Amino acid sequence: TESLTVAELAKKLYREPSEIIKKLFMLGVVATINQSLDKDAIELIASEYGVEVEETIPVDITDLESHVTDDQAADLVERPSVVTIMGHVDHGKTTLLDSIRNTKVTEGEAGGITQHIGAYQVEVSDKKITFLDTPGHAAFTTMRARGAKVTDITIIVVAADDGVMPQTVEAINHAKAAEVPIIIAVNKIDKPAANPDRVMQELTEHGLVPEAWGGDTIFVPISAKTGEGIDSLLEMILLVGEVEEYKANPKTRANGTVIEAQLDKGRGAVATLLVQNGTLRVGDPIVVGNSFGRVRAMVNDLGRRVKDAGPSTPVEITGLNEVPQAGDRFVVVEDEKTARQVGEARAQVTLQSQRNEKSRVTLDTLFEQM
Ligand code: GDP
Ligand code: MG
Repeated sequence: TESLTVAELAKKLYREPSEIIKKLFMLGVVATINQSLDKDAIELIASEYGVEVEETIPVDITDLESHVTDDQAADLVERPSVVTIMGHVDHGKTTLLDSIRNTKVTEGEAGGITQHIGAYQVEVSDKKITFLDTPGHAAFTTMRARGAKVTDITIIVVAADDGVMPQTVEAINHAKAAEVPIIIAVNKIDKPAANPDRVMQELTEHGLVPEAWGGDTIFVPISAKTGEGIDSLLEMILLVGEVEEYKANPKTRANGTVIEAQLDKGRGAVATLLVQNGTLRVGDPIVVGNSFGRVRAMVNDLGRRVKDAGPSTPVEITGLNEVPQAGDRFVVVEDEKTARQVGEARAQVTLQSQRNEKSRVTLDTLFEQM
């Protein structure tokens, strides 16, 4: 990299030339778009973006985060909270998800076919909340292991007739490790054997002390079956959202995470994406994990065709060359050519590392051969 024009450098840094010109101006250099920059100037500008200039590859295009555009503080607006429900088996996670969905989604949406896409949105007091409908533990463990953070708030369901169980503790640990606010839903309070006080007592031992006892953990007694307390639970989610002030920029190119993906006989690769920042539009060139394409069609959680999807919105898309994996990151890029380049390069890197993995002789493989 001996010299580059401002336009070429902007391209390598995935920035607008005008931004580079502005940066140069701030450094006291008046430049035009076609002006060529020497090595020192290139390094100086690159370092402003935290990019190290190497002789051959200035930017690792396979790093999806390098394609994410910066946000201006002024463009940030409030976005819906993204909520995951976790808890011990049979404590009522599925019943709660269904109950919230049935009471809130269908209001005013008569005739709307609700379909399972792995996430849904409800509206409460004119505000939206996004629920991840995938098994909570899977969402946390696989996605977090892959560096994707999708959940803002975790609801831990504890059956009032059963109390804290091993998977309850596991859920608490996941939420704590991810530093995500926890709301405790003490479920099945309709049951004669329900003992909510015991649940609070047991959770205190895990550092979750109810507000009533001087702590700061929100406990909401509910019955996922009768619907009692669910409105309070939703209000509490809104409250936490207000305190945490989750924000995003709807004006920028979209990025986010794959919630679910599969191959559909008729439609090809189908992926449910959670848009975490920006707005995703039909026609957008996109890289999703190691796959790429152009968003052909988008369907929302009500099964309706939509043209765009803003922050915290789950949508199902088609138009990818391959099926990505849950937890994969996605990024909209500037054009289809870039999408192909990045997608193919990423697939190549993965293939190469799989080959290396296979050819590596470990103790296990040695013993297998013996
Ligand atoms: P999950 O394993 O956590 O998804 O639990 P499910 O939602 O499948 O619920 C397990 C069982 O508990 C089912 O038979 C539900 O009908 C029942 N159940 C869930 N919530 C309540 C509740 O609030 N009250 C009562 N009485 N039963 C419930
Ligand atoms: Mg379930």
